[in-house]
Amino acid sequence: MTASLDSMYQQIIIDHYKHPHHRGLPESFDAEVHHVNPTCGDEVTLRVRVQDNTITDLGWVGEGCSISQAATSVMSDLVVGTQVEQALALQQKFLDLVQSQGHAVLTDDDAELLDDAVAFEGVAKYPARVKCALLGWMAMKGAVADAAAKVGE
Ligand code: ZN
Repeated sequence: MTASLDSMYQQIIIDHYKHPHHRGLPESFDAEVHHVNPTCGDEVTLRVRVQDNTITDLGWVGEGCSISQAATSVMSDLVVGTQVEQALALQQKFLDLVQSQGHAVLTDDDAELLDDAVAFEGVAKYPARVKCALLGWMAMKGAVADAAAKVGE
C-alpha cells in the first residue's frame, strides 16, 4: 500500500467517525441487537427493518474506537436498500478482507462492491483491531438473522 493510499483510507475512516451515517435508532424495526467488543470496549446497538427480503431501514447507536464506529457507518451505507443475500455476501467479503492479515486479493468487482469499506484493508495487519472493524457487520448479520427468524414464526 502506498503512503498516499494509506492516508486516503485514513481520511475515509476519520470522515465516517466524525459524521456517522445512519446513526440513530428507527422506531419501526423487525430486530434489534446489541453487540460488544470487550477487548476494545466498543459497543453497537443496531435495528433493522426487512421487507420483501430487502433491508429497507437500518439504524444504530454506538460508542468506542474510530475503527468500530466508522466501519459501522460504512456498513450501513452499503447494505440499506440491498437484498439480504447481497448484504450477507458483502459481510463475507469484508470478513475475508480484514481477516486476510494484509494478504487480501480483491478483484476489481469486489473493490467496487465494498466501496469505502476497502479503507479498512489496513486493519487486517492489526489483529487486535479486526474485531473493531467487524463489530457493526456482525451486528447487521445477527439482526438480519433475527428478522428472518421472526418472519418464519
Ligand atoms: Zn475498537
